[in-house]
Amino acid sequence: MSIKKLKKDVFNDLVAALIDSDQRVVGVKAKGDRFAFGDLESADELRLDYDVTLLPPKKFMLPQMETLLKYEVGGEYKSAGEAPKMTLIGVHPYDLVAINQMDEIFAQDEYDKYYMNRRNNITIIACDVVTPSKNVFAGSMGTATVDKGYDVLLTDMGDSYLAEAATDKGEELLAKAAQADDASPQDIEARSKVWQENKEKLNKHKLNCEPGDIPKLLDKEEVYDHPVWEEKASMCYSCGSCTSVCPTCYCFDVQDDVEWNLKEGKRWRAWDGCVLENFATVTGEHNFRKQRAQRFRHRIFRKGKYVPSKIGGQIACVGCGRCVTACTTDIANPVDIYNRLLEDVKI
Ligand code: SF4
Ligand code: SF4
Repeated sequence: MSIKKLKKDVFNDLVAALIDSDQRVVGVKAKGDRFAFGDLESADELRLDYDVTLLPPKKFMLPQMETLLKYEVGGEYKSAGEAPKMTLIGVHPYDLVAINQMDEIFAQDEYDKYYMNRRNNITIIACDVVTPSKNVFAGSMGTATVDKGYDVLLTDMGDSYLAEAATDKGEELLAKAAQADDASPQDIEARSKVWQENKEKLNKHKLNCEPGDIPKLLDKEEVYDHPVWEEKASMCYSCGSCTSVCPTCYCFDVQDDVEWNLKEGKRWRAWDGCVLENFATVTGEHNFRKQRAQRFRHRIFRKGKYVPSKIGGQIACVGCGRCVTACTTDIANPVDIYNRLLEDVKI
């Protein structure tokens, strides 16, 4: 696959042509003094120098709320779930690692056609980070750079981008760019330097072990009943902000609604979060994680042990730092918790 060097105005022309085509084009835009993914109306709106988006791009594969099927009594049910063709521009490496993890999860066990159909219709133009956010710790989690999941990866080189195509879709896209030269060995060397620097720069909270050691840490007998869960959870509002902003949280709730005429209805799903009080409530109003500390611990165990056991040991925290920023009581940072455990527990 090819690596091209594109002047920034050439790349902007490419984005403008995509916007003029019949497909949806989403990119990172300014929202006040923050940033968010949204539909692009012009190439000038695109901000690839952003630090972090308010919400991760997972909402384009797994919307906050979606109808799964509609039915009529006595009739057949109709499967819903639209999967429009779209291009997503400006995904940072840590968010792409999260998408790669979700791709694995939604393709295994019960193949989730709603997620997978959307994912398969999305072309991803990823970009290396230019401006580190105040709470990012991707450097500690091994997610400051990424080597798969994108169709094109852009690296900012001042007045131009190095653009690497990784798929046929990516190649087709780059072929549309007029005046794109092949990258020289010096350009590729300069890109390696950016990657090396980003591993250092994107590390505002330093984890005191290798990410691969986290499941081993959480497996230690003394961890499950460690005082850290009560210490932190005593300040937890169970507000769900930390799970809502997380690119690796994918839990959802499924509900059936029957219309007033009792003849038709629909099944829908919406994001849910394990820190919310009713997440583990089952029939009969039994809640098997009634205490805040149990829910707080579950979130950390899910990121560091349960999900990794499904996806070959990858830690389900990519160090985006969004939960750190979103938590009003400053208790959600997984690094603080793992480091606190490491003070008391030998691995
Ligand atoms: S850890 Fe913070 S963000 Fe998460 S539920 Fe508790 S108070 Fe809310
Ligand atoms: S746990 Fe926090 S830092 Fe880790 S991926 Fe989720 S939101 Fe980002």
